[in-house]
Amino acid sequence: MSDSIEKMLCLIIGSGPAGYSAAIYAARANLSPVLYTGMQPGGQLTITTEVENYPGYPKGVQGPEMMEDLKAQAERFGTDVRYELIAKVDFTGPVHKAWTESGKEIHAETIIIATGASAKWLGLETEEKFMNKGVSACAVCDGFFFRGQEVAVVGGGDTAAEESLYLSKLCPKVHLLVRRDELRASKIMQERVMAAKNIEIHWNTEAQEIIGNGEVEGVRVIQNKTQEESTLEVKGFFVAIGHEPNTDIFKDWLDMDDTNYLITQAGSTKTNRPGVFASGDAQDKIYRQAVTAAGTGCMAALDAERYLTEIGKI
Ligand code: NDP
Repeated sequence: MSDSIEKMLCLIIGSGPAGYSAAIYAARANLSPVLYTGMQPGGQLTITTEVENYPGYPKGVQGPEMMEDLKAQAERFGTDVRYELIAKVDFTGPVHKAWTESGKEIHAETIIIATGASAKWLGLETEEKFMNKGVSACAVCDGFFFRGQEVAVVGGGDTAAEESLYLSKLCPKVHLLVRRDELRASKIMQERVMAAKNIEIHWNTEAQEIIGNGEVEGVRVIQNKTQEESTLEVKGFFVAIGHEPNTDIFKDWLDMDDTNYLITQAGSTKTNRPGVFASGDAQDKIYRQAVTAAGTGCMAALDAERYLTEIGKI
């Protein structure tokens, strides 16, 4: 075995609430966890605004601040946080192999997957063409660029509601494009959207093409009941239609469902490979909340500790 291979008891992949919660528990159990943050340190909550539903913050908390708190708590107990991506894994043997993007090889007795999920796109050709030129999946990140201008948001869930409300404070008008005749968003978010005077909901409406010369100047939409087409003159086009799990690197090794969410054994975080545990949004398409992700991160660390005890490594 070459000297450049790093051995560890517990590798945590991902830095959202699941990853950091796993790290807090693993570090306090003396597993000396090493956590690789991935491409978006802090995960999805770093691109959200206020989190009002995480227990323990009666006045709410900004997403990025909450993630800093979780990271500080994980580091306090000795978690080694590294700002890099795990690009490849090999789960053939009893010791699990992983490689960082820069090619470093890691041999871990246990791996906790907390890679989360990423925003979905509509798949329009023009969506890609105008990416970062008016097309975005993050109002908090990019809304500022569209101050004083009209924008469109696609989607009918809580994300679309949240993005629309955020943009309604910056923009004179927000067009919310909903493909059905109802919103999927929670009641409280629906009420807030309905109460915002400058959010216009376009029911049964789908985006067909984004138009512009270099930058977004409008979106061609179709009313899917009447087939009537029209163009909305907007400078920003925000896609908020949900997420997909970041599980690509595990597809040759772990069982997944038909939408690529990792499958765990009921009542645990065990995957089909002994010593590999899955937590957070990468394995949860139902609840997908920060608090449920944190809960499964905790479960994964406890499962890892038990596994290491069973195989006599601690
Ligand atoms: P959801 O899956 O809940 O909603 C996706 C929305 O996008 C649906 O309205 C869906 O339409 C629509 N959609 C999907 N594909 C397309 C498409 N191709 N074209 C047009 N519309 C499309 O995802 P969210 O990201 O909104 O929410 C995910 C989870 O996160 C939920 O559990 C939510 O409650 C939670 N969340 C909570 C927040 C909060 O509490 N502050 C904030 C953000 C998210 P249809 O309804 O027709 O399927």
